[in-house]
Amino acid sequence: MIPVPGFEGRRIAVFGLGRSGITAARALKAGGALPVLWDDSVSSRMQAQAEGFDVEDLTVADWSGFAALVLSPGAPLTHPEPHWTVGKAQAAGVEIIGDIELFARAIAALPEGQRPKVVAITGTNGKSTTTALIGWVLEQAGLTVHVGGNIGIGVLALPAPTPDAVYVIEVSSYQLDLTTTFAPDVAILTNISPDHLDRHGGMEGYVAAKTRIFQAQGPDAVALVSLDDDRSHRIARDLSAPGRHVRTVSTAVAAEIRVDDGVLSIAGEPVASLNTARSLPGRHNAQNAAFAWGAARALGVPREVAAGGLMTFPGLAHRMEHVGTLGTVRFINDSKATNADAARQALTSYERSFWIAGGRAKGGGIDDLEDLFPRVVEAFLIGEAAGPFAARLGDTPHRISGDMASAVQAAAAAAMVTGRDEVVLLSPAAASFDQYPDFEARGEAFRAAVLALGATPAASA
Ligand code: ADP
Repeated sequence: MIPVPGFEGRRIAVFGLGRSGITAARALKAGGALPVLWDDSVSSRMQAQAEGFDVEDLTVADWSGFAALVLSPGAPLTHPEPHWTVGKAQAAGVEIIGDIELFARAIAALPEGQRPKVVAITGTNGKSTTTALIGWVLEQAGLTVHVGGNIGIGVLALPAPTPDAVYVIEVSSYQLDLTTTFAPDVAILTNISPDHLDRHGGMEGYVAAKTRIFQAQGPDAVALVSLDDDRSHRIARDLSAPGRHVRTVSTAVAAEIRVDDGVLSIAGEPVASLNTARSLPGRHNAQNAAFAWGAARALGVPREVAAGGLMTFPGLAHRMEHVGTLGTVRFINDSKATNADAARQALTSYERSFWIAGGRAKGGGIDDLEDLFPRVVEAFLIGEAAGPFAARLGDTPHRISGDMASAVQAAAAAAMVTGRDEVVLLSPAAASFDQYPDFEARGEAFRAAVLALGATPAASA
């Protein structure tokens, strides 16, 4: 755990007792603060009480006595409308922050020279892959690495800082909205496309939240930004002021860190071929690899070690993960593709696919994927979105399978009879919540259905 100093003996309101809220309360308590906890859920409150926390009804509390409100990223700060705690805090002049900000302050409180390095990653897609990849590459370099944040372990539950450590932190736009002084040594914005707009009041608010990852960075810090979408491009341009270290990344146009045809080049000089990397297929992973290269080099990792790390990265579950093979058919689990943009990456990676899609549709559905429909041999549709997706697919062969097991069976049967090398691809382009608790459960259901057909599991070494 990372104790948070700076609030010794002071009362701090903590709203939202999910994993990050409870962890924040523990970290504050360890630093000497007096956290006061509340949640709408009675069982969460009882658990907090059982752990010895001070649980008080924040609807009737005296807010003038609080030094801060630590808000769960799940509670809206501004849109669709501010959470009631936000109104109370603002009326009492109490600052509103989140766990990433507490982490930032814990690091900043250390004497200079004793501070660990911090690499932070945000973006619409590719955050987790890039975060895990950077963690892997830095580990290969023999560094003490702690990976967490919006992926895996919450940031304040990571081991306490030591001067030689590097924190590699995935941060969501909700978490960034709750930061003011977070100043990562290396900040990465992978890309921006419309997502979560309901929570940010539109695209402008979303872009503003993402941009906060750079806002408090000092002159020695490094910003890594992609040029491959218009909004990121604009941010890269706006950041480029004298004295700022902005490194550009692209898989399409000239940039400092460029990937072309799978070859990673720095300032025009080839340094690694991603085509032989174990788990970085596709152009989207080329982008992730380029960021990882930039981060590793900014932290002084030698070129050969950085290149070696990219080659051996084992990949993440549920992101274009090869789960099994049946005859000449490969089964790919891309359950994490919860929006059209993410599914685009997967569909683009295969010439032909038997595509399992659907779930709870997001705005726009699969409209933006129309140019890829010719690559779909047949689609097998599941969940709430099956009807609307079917309508959108039009002449592209498709059927409504309903649930995962039926979809996998039907897709496998159809793929087996062609006698060619085929791919059955789960890349839903929709959220999982209509049928599953989360995308992980959906991916596991896919894996189970594939193995139930007698497929040989892919080597997971
Ligand atoms: P995040 O953590 O941002 O949701 P992940 O790394 O978990 O991102 O990847 C989610 C999905 O997005 C994957 O299924 C993959 O197909 C797609 N993806 C991964 N990297 C990128 C990228 N750089 N650009 C666009 N899509 C990507």
